[in-house]
Amino acid sequence: MTFAQIAGQEPAVAVLRRTLADGGNSGSFLFTGPQGCGKTATAWALAAAVSCLEPKTDPYDACTECDACKRLSRGVNPEVSLVQPAGDQTQIWQFWDRDGKPRGILQHALPYSPSIGRKRVFIVERADTLTEGAANSLLKVLEEPPHYVMFILLAPHSGRVLPTILSRCRVVRFGAMPLAGLATMLVDRHSVAPERAATLAALAQGCVGTALSLASSKTAYGEIGVCTDAGMALLSASGLGVLRCAEGLRQAAKGLKFLGDEPPAAAAAAAAPAEADNTKERAGRRQMGAALDLVAVVARDALALALVGPGASIVNEERRSGILAMADRRQPNEWIAAIDQIAIARRRVDMNANPAILTDALAVTLAASA
Ligand SMILES: [Zn+2]
Repeated sequence: MTFAQIAGQEPAVAVLRRTLADGGNSGSFLFTGPQGCGKTATAWALAAAVSCLEPKTDPYDACTECDACKRLSRGVNPEVSLVQPAGDQTQIWQFWDRDGKPRGILQHALPYSPSIGRKRVFIVERADTLTEGAANSLLKVLEEPPHYVMFILLAPHSGRVLPTILSRCRVVRFGAMPLAGLATMLVDRHSVAPERAATLAALAQGCVGTALSLASSKTAYGEIGVCTDAGMALLSASGLGVLRCAEGLRQAAKGLKFLGDEPPAAAAAAAAPAEADNTKERAGRRQMGAALDLVAVVARDALALALVGPGASIVNEERRSGILAMADRRQPNEWIAAIDQIAIARRRVDMNANPAILTDALAVTLAASA
């Protein structure tokens, strides 16, 4: 991965290239931004650029030809390491040998300069999950790493990172792309059908990585379609049909298989068995969250049609006639209220609310406002 290959994160990449060109290739970085927006890919590109033996300088980038670059692209450069949470948290024993577990990645790697390339790089994928003990154990090395070491920490939001960590890193912000720009990129660079591109961009909330994994999945678009139909039924339901539609949405959410489970990191596999339940529960919550995002997209399409008329620009182009038919069930201000209700339910998913109660309550509230 090189900077030139990173799409949709031009401002962040420009900051990094400038920093490296100015000789600022030491210390610790913190990348913040939503999941799937390109932080991890950019971290690998930065790792490649700083470990490359003959980097290009204008603009700064890895050469892709030297020994360090070739090993990194084949996944066999031992000087670049990725640390992922062990279950829900990133623990101290993942960095330093503890309690007879000789697995600390920093314990023996920190004192010696790299044998391949110019830098030894540690990418800490979810710095927001560092336990306090793990975070405290890193403060000194983050502040003054050896000149041949670079840390790249990633987190969804700087507010979720301990202030002591935050103050020791250079923060680089990553953002979502404008939806229209992302949709165009999917069509032009990745041969996604135009009528699907807008849906994928909206569902990915402007995050390039998420959109690409959706686009490359054979089943995702079908699963999204089932969920979108369940959302349309929910937004049209009345009377006794309301709770049946809520159940329909829950079933459709369970069918969102493309979201997968948490990445089965080696560290996670080594964590306590009780973590398996947590992983399943988290997957269920992610599915329900995505399902509600899809319902919100339908409601926004209906609002656009109710406001502008049949020619309005909408995301679910393939379902235009169906959404047009339901658009006049509500006045525009009632559609706005419905979108608010969906957003509230969406937030409650993240706050661990019971999905059955939450969807039933949403269905009843929506029906009452129709
Ligand atoms: Zn190189």
